[in-house]
Amino acid sequence: MVIKLHDTLSREVKALEKRAGEPYKVYVCGPTVYGPAHIGNFITFTRFDVLYRTLKVAGYEPYYVRNITDVDDKTIKRSQEEGLSLQAFTEKWTQKFHDDCAALNLLEPDVEPRATEHLQEQIDLVEKLIEKGNAYVGGDGSVYYRVTSFADYGKLAHFDPEQLRTQDTNSAGTANLADEYEREAVADFALWKAQKADDGANSWPGPRHPETGERIAGRPGWHLECSAMSMRYLGPSFDLHGGGEDLCFPHHENEIAQSEAATGETFCRHWMHSTHLLVEGKKMSKSLGNFFTIEDLLEKGYAPAAIRLAFLQGHYRQQFNFTLSGIDAAKSGLEKLEKGLQPLLEKAGMSREQFTGLVPPFAENLGAFQNAWNALCHDLNTPAALGSLFSAVKRASKQAETAEDAQAALRAAATLLFALGLPLFAAQEAEPEAVEVPSDIAELAERRWQAKQSKDFATADALRAELTEKGWQVLDRKDGYDVVQA
Ligand SMILES: [Zn+2]
Repeated sequence: MVIKLHDTLSREVKALEKRAGEPYKVYVCGPTVYGPAHIGNFITFTRFDVLYRTLKVAGYEPYYVRNITDVDDKTIKRSQEEGLSLQAFTEKWTQKFHDDCAALNLLEPDVEPRATEHLQEQIDLVEKLIEKGNAYVGGDGSVYYRVTSFADYGKLAHFDPEQLRTQDTNSAGTANLADEYEREAVADFALWKAQKADDGANSWPGPRHPETGERIAGRPGWHLECSAMSMRYLGPSFDLHGGGEDLCFPHHENEIAQSEAATGETFCRHWMHSTHLLVEGKKMSKSLGNFFTIEDLLEKGYAPAAIRLAFLQGHYRQQFNFTLSGIDAAKSGLEKLEKGLQPLLEKAGMSREQFTGLVPPFAENLGAFQNAWNALCHDLNTPAALGSLFSAVKRASKQAETAEDAQAALRAAATLLFALGLPLFAAQEAEPEAVEVPSDIAELAERRWQAKQSKDFATADALRAELTEKGWQVLDRKDGYDVVQA
C-alpha cells in the first residue's frame, strides 16, 4: 500500500518511499509549552496523528519524533512572571499538552525530546557550523548562521535569497526587528543566543568561542533544537518532516540550512505542512471571541471524539472553517456511524467491546471500505475518507450475507476507524468538572495571587508549593486564576 502526499519542497504529490529494512522516519515540530495549545495547534497535531496511523496501517513501520520546545523567550518570561523555575513551568504545560492529546486520541510519538535535555547535541552542531565557516560570533556575542554560506537557502519556501530582508523570529513566528549591526547580514539568524540580563538563571555554557576558546554562556536559538534533535533520533537524512504552514519559513528553511551545511547530506526527503484553520469564518483571535483551547470546548460540553471528527472534515492543504455547529454535526455523525454498524455487529455475533477491542493488523481485504482507505492514501484526504466511510458502512451492512461477511466488514471498518483515530462506542459527553474548592484552599490561592501581584515571588512560590502539597493547582490567567485539583 503506497501513500502519496504533497511535498512542499518539490510542490508535487509524491509517493512516500519506505527504505527496505528501516522504519519510516518522521519528525514533527511540537508545541512551545508556555500555555495551553489552541485548536489551531491541535488540528495540525491531529492531522499528523492521522498520517502516523495511516503509515502504520499501510505497513511503513513509522518511527515518530515530536519535540517539546521548553526554552525560548516566552517560556522564560512567563516562568519568571509566575515565580516558577523554567523546568517546573514547562513541565506543567507539557502535562497539560499531554492531557489534551490524550483527550483527542492522539497516539504518543515514539520519542518526545525536549530542547533543554539535548543541549550537547545543539552545541556540537553550532561548533561544527563555526568550524565549517557557516556560523560566526556576532557583535552581541551570540552565534549567527551565515545565510550567504548556504547556496540552497530558500529552496523550501521557494524564494530567491536576494529578496530576503529580515527574519529574526521567535517560536511564535513573530518577527523581531533585527539589529543589523550585531550580524553580518540581516537575514542571518541566531543559533546560540548570548546570555541577557532578562534570562535570569536560564543560561547554559554553550559552544566554544572560535578565538578565545571560552564557552559562550546563553541558550539555544529555536531553529537549532529541531535540527539537533531530529538528527539525534533519525540520523542526518530522514523521510518526512512536518509542521504548521507558518513553520515553513523561516523555521524549516533554517533547519535545512543548519543541517545540510553541517552534514552535506539531504536533511529530509519529504516536507508536509498543515494549513491554518479559520474559526467561525475568521482568523482565530482572542479579541474576536473565536479563540479556543481544547479545554474551552470540553467545558462547553463537546465530546473529544466529536471535536476530532470535526477537525478531520478539513483537508490539511485547504483552508478549513472550523465551527461549533460543525462539532454538533460531527457528534450526530458519530452516532450515525455507531447506529450504522449495529446490524453488522448483530450479524457477526460481535459485541461492541469485541469490536472496539480489535487490534491491528486488521483487514487484508477492505471491501466496501476500500474507497475510504484510498482517499487517505491519496494526499491524506480525510474529508473524502469520512464521506466514503459513511456510505461504506451502509453498503457493507446490505452486502453482508453471512456472519463471516459481517466480521470481515467490521475488521475493515475498524481499520479505517483506527487510521482516522475515531473511537466509537466511547463518545461520552464531557461533563464540566464542578469541584467545590474548600475555603482554606481558596484563601491560600488568593494570598498567592496577591503576593504575585505585588511581585513577591518568593511568597507566591511558597504558597503554590503549599497548595500543591494539599493536592491543588493554580492556573494563572491574564487577569486572574483558576484553582483546580492537581
Ligand atoms: Zn521545529
